[in-house]
Amino acid sequence: MSAPDDRSKRRDRLVLLGGARGRAAGAVWLVGAGPGDPELLTIKALKVLQRADVVVHDGLVTSGILDLAPASARRISVAKRKSRHAYSQDEINRMLVAFALEGLTVVRLKGGDPFIFGRGGEELEAAREAGIECHVVPGVTAALAAGAGAGAPLTHRGAAQAVTFVTGHAAKGGEPDLDWAGLAKANHTVVIYMGLSMAAPIAVRLMAAGRAGGTPALIVENASRPDERRVVTTLAGLADAAAALSGPALLIVGEAMALARAGEGADAVVQEAARAGGLA
Ligand code: SAH
Repeated sequence: MSAPDDRSKRRDRLVLLGGARGRAAGAVWLVGAGPGDPELLTIKALKVLQRADVVVHDGLVTSGILDLAPASARRISVAKRKSRHAYSQDEINRMLVAFALEGLTVVRLKGGDPFIFGRGGEELEAAREAGIECHVVPGVTAALAAGAGAGAPLTHRGAAQAVTFVTGHAAKGGEPDLDWAGLAKANHTVVIYMGLSMAAPIAVRLMAAGRAGGTPALIVENASRPDERRVVTTLAGLADAAAALSGPALLIVGEAMALARAGEGADAVVQEAARAGGLA
C-alpha cells in the first residue's frame, strides 16, 4: 500500500494521461451480483451495470444478469474452475487496471457480495495502488438467499445468537484451518462457503470439538436459482447429504436450521433422517 499522498499524485498523473488521449480516466466498480436471481440485484448494481463499457465477471454470475449490461459492453469471463484457473488473481487485477487506464468504466461483477469470499479486497487494493478510482456496490451474499429460501433464519431468538461465515476451502487447498472450538459452540449458526467437497472432514472436526451430531443442518445448492435444491439433515448426516450435490452450495449448521424446509420444486430433496428434536 502506498501513502495517500503518493496515490493522489499518481491519480493526477493518470487523469492527465487520460486527458492527453482525449478521455477521462476510467473507474473500476466492484459490484455484487447477488446469489443468482436477477431480482436480487440491487438497484444501484443495475444502474452501474447499465453504464458499463466492460464487464469482467466470474462463473457465479448468471446470464439473466449479464443480459442487463448494454449490448455494446464487452463481456469477459474470468471463471475459476476448482482445479484450473482461467485467469490468475494477478491477471484479473492487471486487466481491471488496464481497462480503467484506457478511460473505460469497468464493472467487476461478482457472485453474492464482492467482500464475502470474493477476493474483492485484492482488486480494490490493486486499483488503489494504480491510483484508479474504485467503488464497491454490495450484493446479497449466498448465505442470506439460502436462509431465505429455506425459511430458516440465520439468527433466531433462543436458537442462534450469532452467525459465522467461514470458508471450507484452505487457501492452499485441503482442509481449512478454522477455530473449531469456537464454531462448535451451541446456539450459533455456522455457514460454510466452498465447503461441499470438504463436508466430511468439516463435520468430523465440528463433532470432535463438541458440536452435537444431532444439530440440525441444511445444504443449499444454487440458492435463489430455478434449480435450487435444499437438503435438510443433521451435522452427523452432512457428509452423506453433500455427496449427492455438486454445487455451488452452502453448508449451514445450527439449531435454527430446525426451521429449514426442503424446496417445493420437483428437485427438492428432503433428508429428515436422523434429525433430532426441534428447537429447545
Ligand atoms: N461472494 C460470494 C461467495 C463467493 S465464494 C457471495 O457473497 O455469495 C463461492 C461459494 O459461494 C460457492 O462455493 C458456494 O459455497 C457459495 N455460493 C455462491 N452462490 C451460491 C448460490 N447461489 N447457492 C449456494 N451457494 C452459493
